[in-house]
Amino acid sequence: MYIGCHLSISKGYENMAKTAVSIGANVYQFFSRNPRGSSNKALDMEDVEKMQKILRENDFGPILAHAPYILNLASHKERIYGMSKGILKEDYEMLNNISVPYFNFHPGNHVGKGVEYGIERIADALNEIISGNENTMILLETMSGKGTEIGRNFQEIKAIIDRVKYHELIGVCLDICHVYAAGYDIVNDLDKVLEEFDYIIGLDRLKAIHLNDSMMELGTNKDRHAKIGEGTIGLKAIKNIINHPALRKLPFYLETPNELEGYKKEIQILKGIYDEH
Ligand code: FE
Ligand code: FE
Ligand code: ZN
Repeated sequence: MYIGCHLSISKGYENMAKTAVSIGANVYQFFSRNPRGSSNKALDMEDVEKMQKILRENDFGPILAHAPYILNLASHKERIYGMSKGILKEDYEMLNNISVPYFNFHPGNHVGKGVEYGIERIADALNEIISGNENTMILLETMSGKGTEIGRNFQEIKAIIDRVKYHELIGVCLDICHVYAAGYDIVNDLDKVLEEFDYIIGLDRLKAIHLNDSMMELGTNKDRHAKIGEGTIGLKAIKNIINHPALRKLPFYLETPNELEGYKKEIQILKGIYDEH
């Protein structure tokens, strides 16, 4: 199975890969720049190549870069919209250059302008950002639906994809905590949720799973991640998720409230309940 967690990029690319190996991970996620969005330091290609070598030698799955949280591609404020597009474009080009396969972002918040408006705005931005020559795929993350978040249901994600010209470069990252908070009952009816995903978006678009337990109940639209087995989703449901025929081959990235030791433990637990066959 491909299992890993969110890692800090603050000590560089090679360090990140080494850290992943040391905790038993064979995938990981990292921020494309620091979470507040301030500028990247110049890329150290030697460091990147050392990382890629470790990934190859240890049969890693696809690593995933996460865009900074402050971006809002649905904003009606030109300054925020322009800044968000600029950062996303810059990071997208950089990730392409260093062959990172996936770039995940939160679709955006319409802040009162309405879902339709937000969806148009996000799709317009993506059409400016994607030239069609890239190899890195952009992933839209499913959201909990707090505030005016777009991506609270599969229809909203699909509506964005439908408006993107080079939609073959768009995939989806399913965040388990978020979909549960958004009202999809992955605990009692995982099959039905995945059937719905397939019917509305298509399971071929699903590229990555954020594997998180939730502190909040089903349908509360609150985004609070819990450690694996310590939340309202629970270990039994998580076992079903990682072993489900439609999901088991996908990369799983933990974003649980943990330090490295905690992640190492969760990776061990998950490997232990994954059916190798
Ligand atoms: Fe996220
Ligand atoms: Fe997430
Ligand atoms: Zn979250």
